[in-house]
Parts: sequence; structure tokens; C-alpha cells
Amino acid sequence: MNLIIQDLKKTYPNGKAALNSINLNIGTGMFGLLGPNGAGKSTLMRTLATLQLPDAGSIYFNEIDVMKDPMALRRILGYLPQEFGVYPGLSAQDLLEYFCVLKGINSASDRKRIIEYVLELTNLTEVRRQAVSRFSGGMKQRFGIAQLLLNNPRLIIVDEPTAGLDPAERNRFLNVLRQVGTESIVIFSSHIVDDISELCNQFAILNHGEILKNGDPTQSILDLTGMIWERNIQTHEEAIYSHEVIRLSSKYHPDNSKVLRLFASKPPDNMCVPAQPHLEDVYFLEMHRSNDSEQNTAI
Ligand code: ADP
Repeated sequence: MNLIIQDLKKTYPNGKAALNSINLNIGTGMFGLLGPNGAGKSTLMRTLATLQLPDAGSIYFNEIDVMKDPMALRRILGYLPQEFGVYPGLSAQDLLEYFCVLKGINSASDRKRIIEYVLELTNLTEVRRQAVSRFSGGMKQRFGIAQLLLNNPRLIIVDEPTAGLDPAERNRFLNVLRQVGTESIVIFSSHIVDDISELCNQFAILNHGEILKNGDPTQSILDLTGMIWERNIQTHEEAIYSHEVIRLSSKYHPDNSKVLRLFASKPPDNMCVPAQPHLEDVYFLEMHRSNDSEQNTAI
């Protein structure tokens, strides 16, 4: 399976350029779209889900030309928006039954089989008779996955699904996605780096409507081997480095001392110790480079 995105552009009527010539080639598995708020993630997701039109560009899913034949994509698409409404009072089981009918699954035995399957996969079998409107955030998100699986989608798009979930709910949700992602293309967006590193075999970093990096997370982490350094400093201490040393992040210890994470091709000084690179370093490095080049353009 293959999703090919070519030169996708979108500028909103207020002049905001949300997508600036996006090119991506996405294969089977879990694809994570990482970026800060306002990066353009939802715009890209909604465009791929054929809910809004780009100004220019093309999208192909296998042999489907999505701009020419959006209906063909919709038949094999499962989309979970950031916010989705549920009907007050209806149980998970009844709501799934209703969605099945909407999706044209006419045989009662087919409906029974698929509903049992999606409830089981999303760990909702035991609560199937409870009202979805009273589900916790994590259960609602899992229900969102259950409903999108009803038509056996090949392309699954989930927009910031872990936002607002507590750690246990988040884990449960990611495990469900992990299972779903083996046989289809799952694209999911997040501003949480750990979501991507725990789950995805492909990822892209988006900022200001541009892809800053795109590839295999494991390889991107490996590429930083030998270039990540840590230095402990006290809160009142300053650490001043030349522009070749990039400050990626800093974390506080409970005793108020701080650990700086730095990127440099050689040890910045003898106070620094080598550190194991993480995906978060890849993210901060790309964001730094992107914001830096923007400032330079502004000057
Ligand atoms: P993200 O999902 O990464 O937070 P969005 O795609 O929602 O990013 O937004 C990208 C940019 O486009 C933001 O600056 C946002 O304010 C702007 N934007 C999004 N939707 C609209 C809209 N309907 N009209 C005008 N601007 C919009």
C-alpha cells in the first residue's frame, strides 16, 4: 500500500499558509505526524480525509487519484477527527449498529460479527451496553477507533488522538492503534514525541506548513549518535557556548539543578558527557534549525 502526496498547498482566505508544498510517500504501517500547535497537521489530515480541498497538489492512494475520485477513497477510509460527537444516551453497541447501517452493511449477521470484532479489538466488549456519551476520554477515543474500523478501512487517519488522555488510557489507546496498524496505513498526528517513538515505523516533522524531516524514527535517532551531550548546571549558573553548539532542551531535577541537552559534532567542553540520542532530540534539532532559518530570513 502506498499513499503519495505531491506538492500539496493550502492557504486559508485570511492569508495563512497552512500547507506549503508538502511531499510525502507513506507505506503500510504507522506513520506519525509530529508538530507544534498551528503547524498544519489538522489541515493535512482533513485534506487527506477529503474533507477539504487543497489549492494545489495531488494525492494518490494505490491506484486511486484522490483529487479526481474522492468517493473511491472514502469507501476505504477511516477517519477520527479531533472532536467527534456522539448521540446522548445511545449505548456503544446500538451506536455501532447504527453506523453499520449508515455504512451500508445490510446483513444482520455481518453486522453482529463486525461489531463483536471491533468491540473486542478496542477492549470495549464489557462496556458495550453503556452510553458512549458517559464514557471516559480514553474509552471515547477507543470507541472512535471501533466505529472507523466497521468498513475495514485501508487508510486510517486519526488526528491528535492522545490529547487529554491520562497515561493508562493513552497506553491502552496506543496498543489498539498498534494492532490496527499492521494491515493498513495509519496516519496519526501528535505534538507528543513519545507517541511517535513508541509506535511508528515512519514519521515526519511539520512546522509552519513545511516538512522539516521525514523518514524512519530509529534511523533518525541513530544519525545523531555521538552528537548529543548533557551537562549538569546549577540554576544560578550560565552555560555559554558558540553557535556550533545547539541547546536542545533543559530539564530540572528535584534539587533544582538542571540538565542541559546539547547538540554538537564534538564535545562542547569537559563538563559535558555523551548522551544516548532520543527522538525528542531529533525534533528539537529540526525545530531549532527551522526557527533559526526563519529568523535569518526575517533579518
Ligand atoms: P495543527 O493541527 O498543527 O495545530 P492546523 O492545521 O489546525 O494546525 O492550522 C494550521 C494553521 O492554519 C494555523 O495557523 C491555524 O490558525 C490556521 N487555520 C486552520 N484552520 C483555519 C481556518 N479554517 N481558517 C483560517 N486559518 C486556519
